[in-house]
Order: sequence, then structure tokens, then C-alpha cells
Amino acid sequence: MVEAPQLTPDEALAILTIPDEEVPSLVERAHQVRLAYAGAEVEVESIISAKTGGCPEDCHFCSQSRHWPTPVRPEPFIDVDALVEAAKRSQAKGATEFCIVLAVRGPDDKIMRQVLRAVDALHANTDVHVACSLGILTTEQARQLHEAGVRRYNHNLETARSYFPEICTTHTWEERYETCRLVLDLGMELCCGGIFGMGETKQQRVEFAFQLKELGPREIPVNFLNPRPGTPFEASSVVAPLDAIRTIAMLRLLFPDVVLRYAGGREVTLGELQSMGMLAGINGIIIGNYLTTLGRSPDEDLAMLADLEMPLRSLEI
Ligand code: SF4
Repeated sequence: MVEAPQLTPDEALAILTIPDEEVPSLVERAHQVRLAYAGAEVEVESIISAKTGGCPEDCHFCSQSRHWPTPVRPEPFIDVDALVEAAKRSQAKGATEFCIVLAVRGPDDKIMRQVLRAVDALHANTDVHVACSLGILTTEQARQLHEAGVRRYNHNLETARSYFPEICTTHTWEERYETCRLVLDLGMELCCGGIFGMGETKQQRVEFAFQLKELGPREIPVNFLNPRPGTPFEASSVVAPLDAIRTIAMLRLLFPDVVLRYAGGREVTLGELQSMGMLAGINGIIIGNYLTTLGRSPDEDLAMLADLEMPLRSLEI
């Protein structure tokens, strides 16, 4: 059995700075750890933006914030039938997880009622595991979601605590952390990750990874900044492909058994190296479109997984 690495922050930082010629051996090490502790299977998820745009928060990377002149127009809560149809289509493509995502600071009573109706409809009409991403929760809201059978809750810390004030001023990192704790305390699975490439230093990437480790999420979505027009980060450059690979491998070595999921930005960051990211530790993907950006087609992703001989995780009901 491959030994589970016990990285120190200095060792994690060293991974983020290894020379290019050592990246292939890093990838090999991360892949062996992934196979030993998380297996060869890949968990496929699809997400739906059930309420788009008009968000009162000022996250500087986000085109759904009403603070920035972006092309995203606010839309009301999606029709539940359309949501169920989208879940059925993704299940037919192999998705086992379906996540309802809202552009809100946190849900109000009306939105909670709509979400709970949608969760019931998904349970009644599909076999997918239902996840939600509704922002900052109260204890009562978290309890309602748990009782409704929501299996996993997504709430990203987004970045290191020390860097968070540079990316958002309308809420704090600590508020996000509290919602993550609430979810865990209720016994729901926590999906918690962030976005790399927003101007944080490598030391802050390591700081962020160790802050995630304190929480112990079941799943870590790995986003790379895809600079959106109109946002304060629109002129940022994207993460260099090999830096993205180093980041993925560092996360896999720190979190041997989590679902490390490719989320937004992988197409612009990694391009043709998306397969290499899979071999550096990724074992979950979001298929189809993201919230406000287009992903490549599910068939292309499924073909990549077939080429890599990585089977899809099947639905345990
Ligand atoms: S990231 Fe979420 S909370 Fe922040 S502006 Fe976008 S939708 Fe709102």
C-alpha cells in the first residue's frame, strides 16, 4: 500500500515550486496516492443555476454580483419541472450528483420553500444524490435541508483567510467557515473548495489548503479563475498549466481520499492538459455548463475518462 503522505506546510509549498522537469514524477506520485486511497473511479456531477445573477455580495471574481457591470442578467427561480428534466438528462449521462446552486448571500424564506420543493421533486423523479449550494445558512435552514435529504452541501471558502478581504468585502471568511461547520455538525457531507489564481501567493495557496484540512470536506471543488468581463478580475491572467497541475497534485497529496473535483476554469487554464490533471489527482468532474460559463460537452469529458480507463462511479442508492 502506498503510504499516505503527511505533508507539512513547507513540503506543500515545495510541491508548488518544483521545477518543470519534476512535474511528471509529482503527477505519478499523486496518481498512486489517488488510486490507493480514493480508487480509480470518477464521480460525475452536474450543477444547475436555479437562481441566476443579481447577487448582493461583491465577490470580485463573480459575474453574478450586482456590483459589477457584467452581461449576466438576473433571472428568477427556475421552474421545478425544468430542473427535474435537467437532472434526468445528467443522470442519463452518468451523473450521480446533482447540485442546485443559487446566486444569493443566503436563502430567504421564499427561496427555502422553493428549494425544498425542488429537492422533493428530484427525490421523487430521479435517483441522483441531491446537493445544494445556497450560500450562508442559519442553523434552522441547514436543519431543514438535512431533513429534506440533501446529502451534500457546497460552500466554498474560496481562498485563504488572509487573502479573503481582497476578493470580497460584503461578508467575511469567518461567516463562510461557520456555515461549513454547521453543515458538518448536522452530519451532511461538506463540499468545500475554492478558486485558484485570484492573485493569492503560493504561501496563501498552502494556507488555504491547510484551512480546508481543518474542516475535512468530503469533496473539494477545484476552480481556476476564468476572468469574467466586467468583474474587478477581468484583466487577471489565468494560472499557468503546470502551476495548475502542481496545485492539483498538492491537494491530492494532502487529501488522499477526497473527491477532488474539476470545476470552473479548467478549460481555459489547462486546455489540452486536462487529462494530466486527472492523472495528478482529480477524481470528480462537473459535466456540462458551469453557472455562467460554458463547459465543454459531456461527451468530450466522458471520452477523456474512457481514454484514461477511469470508470464512472455508479449510483449507490
Ligand atoms: S460568488 Fe456567490 S455570493 Fe459571491 S457574488 Fe457570486 S453568487 Fe454572490
